[in-house]
Amino acid sequence: MTSDLTITAVETREYQWERETPIQNGLHTYTHHEISFVEVQTSAGITGYGIGRPRPGERGFRNSFAKKLIGRDPLMTEAIWADLWSPKLYGRRGQETRALSSLDMALWDIRGKLAGLPLYRLVGGYRKDIPFYTAGGYYAPGKGLKELAQEMAGYVEKGARAVKMKVGAVEIPEDVARVRAVRQAIGPDIKLMIDANCAYRAYDAISLARRVEDQDIFWFEEPVQPDDYAGFRRIFEATGMTLATGENEYTKHGFRDLIATGAISILQPDARYTGGVTEFLKIAALAQAHGLDICPHGDQLAHLSLLAAIPNARMLEYYPKAPGMADAFLHTRPVNADGTITVPEVPGMGLDPNPEFLRHAKRLA
Ligand SMILES: [Mg+2]
Repeated sequence: MTSDLTITAVETREYQWERETPIQNGLHTYTHHEISFVEVQTSAGITGYGIGRPRPGERGFRNSFAKKLIGRDPLMTEAIWADLWSPKLYGRRGQETRALSSLDMALWDIRGKLAGLPLYRLVGGYRKDIPFYTAGGYYAPGKGLKELAQEMAGYVEKGARAVKMKVGAVEIPEDVARVRAVRQAIGPDIKLMIDANCAYRAYDAISLARRVEDQDIFWFEEPVQPDDYAGFRRIFEATGMTLATGENEYTKHGFRDLIATGAISILQPDARYTGGVTEFLKIAALAQAHGLDICPHGDQLAHLSLLAAIPNARMLEYYPKAPGMADAFLHTRPVNADGTITVPEVPGMGLDPNPEFLRHAKRLA
């Protein structure tokens, strides 16, 4: 191992392309896919890739952080993390932590590529095939109960053993009918999760939970705002429903506080937001110590490597739609017939961009 290994350049390329159909959840509508590929170059000629989002705040912090990285040893990930997450200067949550996350991922990609090992085997290989669930069931104009049921049953036909649908954008009786239609379409043996994307107050969430209680809901995701710890507790105490949250939470400190509510069973960190690989692994260990499972939010490829490395991974979130985010990567994996996805055996995180696909995307920066 060279001792004079240094970071020589940090570059970001941002892309955007239109979704085939816009998607709508409990609070937001999304018309485009967008991604930032963060590229960290080294004196060894190895390039590490991390990913983030093309948002002005994240971009600004990343540019500022990038200047601090030149000349540093890319393997000193704890030291770099500590420098970039320094209260009063930057942090402690939000766009700064997202910028830090993307850079941290690129550094771990470098570590894997230097070692010639996939990330999961480098940090603690646990399994190669990860159970996944298909995330869908969004709202869309003209999409009635029949279309929703067909969509969700279609995921099961394509191998999913678990599916997740949105709630929270319409009146509760309508959502209850949607949930019932989906349960009927997928049958009793498939796991069904509902996700409100923070759309409810606790009393609404309790009302919905009680009315779908007999539909065997595997988890109820983000029923209330991420900081409404008392709300999570009230919902859990009133309904006993398995609650999941964490995609809007940052760092081990945030997850420590979520765990302390005693109301959350499934933690959903997103390595792109919460502090990169460095922080994700710590959150996973913290969860393990409390007997909790990790089902990360979003990007399936980044999280495939991470879930293969930890013992308390439950399921990977999988987005099937083409041309979706998966096409932006070189090492995207197909799903297996048994409801799993196999981690790619490539050195690093496997997040290298796919230039063929991205050539047709709009370059934002
Ligand atoms: Mg969600």
